This record gives sequence, C-alpha cells and structure tokens, in this order.
Amino acid sequence: MPRPIQAIVHQGAVRHNLQAVRRQVPDVKVWAVVKANAYGHGIERVYEPLRGADGFALLDLQEAERVRALGWRGPIVLLEGVFEPRDLEICSRLGIWHAVHCDQQIDWLAAHKTHAPHRVFLKLNGGMNRLGFTPARYRTAWARLSALPQVEEISLMMHFSDADGEPGIERQLAVFREATDGLPGERSICNSAAILRFGAQPGVSQDWVRAGIALYGSSPDYPAGSIERWGLQPAMSLRSRIIDTQQLQPGDTVGYGSRFTAEVPMRIGIVACGYADGYPRICDTGTPVLVDGVRTRTLGRVSMDMLAVDLTAPIAAGHASGFGSEVVLWGRASATHGGQWLPIDEVAAHAQTLGYELMCAVAPRVPFEIE
Ligand code: PLP
Repeated sequence: MPRPIQAIVHQGAVRHNLQAVRRQVPDVKVWAVVKANAYGHGIERVYEPLRGADGFALLDLQEAERVRALGWRGPIVLLEGVFEPRDLEICSRLGIWHAVHCDQQIDWLAAHKTHAPHRVFLKLNGGMNRLGFTPARYRTAWARLSALPQVEEISLMMHFSDADGEPGIERQLAVFREATDGLPGERSICNSAAILRFGAQPGVSQDWVRAGIALYGSSPDYPAGSIERWGLQPAMSLRSRIIDTQQLQPGDTVGYGSRFTAEVPMRIGIVACGYADGYPRICDTGTPVLVDGVRTRTLGRVSMDMLAVDLTAPIAAGHASGFGSEVVLWGRASATHGGQWLPIDEVAAHAQTLGYELMCAVAPRVPFEIE
C-alpha cells in the first residue's frame, strides 16, 4: 500500500477559475501563467482546462517546450525573456514571444541572425524595481528595438508591486500611461490581484491580462479578499489519512518539544503528512484541517513525516473518526465527505505566507492525481 498522501488537481476548478477571470475582464485576452510548473500543479495537469486561455505565460524555454509538446500552437510568452543569447534561436523556431527587460537582451537580439522575426514585450519598471527599463529609459529602449529587423512586433508590459494591497495600482498605472503614451503596440499590466480588484475599472485591463494565482484558487489579496469573495474554487487539494490514534489525559503532551498539553481527555489522530511533504513546519497547534469533512486543528509540532490533529470536533459531529479517516490539509474533501473546502489561504496565513508558496512547495514524493 502506498503511503496515504495525495495532491489532487481539480481540473473543473481551474476551468471555472479561468471563466471567473474572463467574467471580470471580458473582451480582454488572458495569459494563463503556468510558470513554476503551473504553481506546483503540473503544466500537463492544467493544460486541458487552460486551453481556453489566449496564451501561456511562463518562465523558461523548458516550460515553453512542454506547452508546445502538448499541442499548443497559440501564443507563449517568456515573462523574464531569454537568459542567454542562444535561447533566441529556440524562440524564433518555436514562435515564442519574450519579454525584454534590459539592454543586454536588446544587444543579444541585435547580434542574433534570424529570419523568423521576434515578438517582444518591452518591460517597464514602473516602481517595483525588479525587472525593466525605468520610465526615463523606456522610450530609448523602444526605439532601439523598433530599429531592429529581428523584431517584428513590440508590446508593452509592466508588473504592479502593490495590486494586492495598499497603495494599490493608481500611481504605477499613471507611470505606465505616461511612459507608453503614443507608443504603438498591445499592452499588458494586470496580474490576478489587479484583475480581480481593479480590472473592471475603465482602462485598467488593457489588451492582455496575466492571470496566475486566481486560476489556481487562491485569493491574491487574502485576508481582505477570499476565494469565496472572488468566486474562485480551490484547484489543489492536499489529502492524507490518519495512520494512528492516541487517547490523551489532562497533562499529556504531543510531539517534539511537547508544545501542546491536553487540558481534558481527548482523542487525537496522527496524519501521514509532514514538512517533508511540503506542509509548513510552522503550522503548529491551531492550524485548520478537515477530518472526515469536519473542521478541526493541528496539535503540537509538525514532524518530518506526520502531524497530529484534534479529533474532538469530528467525533462530536457523529463521525467514527480514527484510523483511516480522510484528512484535508488544504483544498476540498472528497465527495463522500460532502466536498467541504479548506482554503489554502487560511493554512498559508497560519504559516505566515501565501497560497503561492504552499502550492509550489508540495514535495516531489507526494503523488498527484487529477479529479
Ligand atoms: N506577471 C508577471 C510578470 C509575474 O511575475 C506574475 C507572477 O508573479 C504574474 C504575472 C502572475 O501573478 P499572479 O499569480 O499574482 O496572478
């Protein structure tokens, strides 16, 4: 018998979430962002529901080749552009668009002998100070690119630093408008937070949006926003089972460091999931989990291969919770347990991080299934 832990990708939820994005920004083209192996879900597992997008945005040529191998003939863009000059040849051969964020990449294009012209997204540094040309240097970069016979089309892009919180996007939107005013080409500036929070405002969503986390059913602005609020569904579940139980008496402790002490008699379950599976070690006592579809909590330290949960609530709800019971670490309970949800964002908040990090951190030893 395999160890009873699984990650499940809910393809129907991914499809639903793409529709939710489309409803928010109708008439706008959607890049489905599938970098980091589709935020840990597996590019091949989300390809089918995301074929309804207008293009795939990703990090490197290995991911691009995987999307082409799945049969995608439409647009693909490398969000950080190429990392070395020889990648340009592959881009032209596979018809892959690429961001251009620095002079070095323009030099490489200028020196590149190709007959298949390139489509590029010229990246503005609108204040994030990560990648891109500053507003003062943006038009010079555009002029350099537009003089190159290797470049067929220049689109304009920027990435917001605060779309998920305060101060929001207003200042950087104004920077983008001023830097790109009068330049031809399609525009792309919105990530999930900008799409959901501001995409319905006139002039914000532009020609292309780049949706990542929303497609995977995590709220980009949790706790202000939630997947319920944005009409999204969890696309990944991490499920396991109880592999042992213990009966505690008052004063008994649980796990390394004895960080939880029972005050009353209680039954606990030991779950086949630990930090070596990607579950955060920091999710000490009190992190929500579902046992037999009923919400309860972790107890004590998370170990490498297991963690403890409180069985009081599921037993009180009438379940014979114990050996073999289903435990949902995040996502959706199986249909036999009513399909209850535990948003990944709630678990991430207990781990002082975001849904993004938990999704990307599921360990290679955890088998995936599609549901
Ligand atoms: N665009 C760029 C340039 C990004 O780096 C990312 C992700 O970090 C996205 C879009 C998608 O962001 P999100 O997952 O928040 O939608």
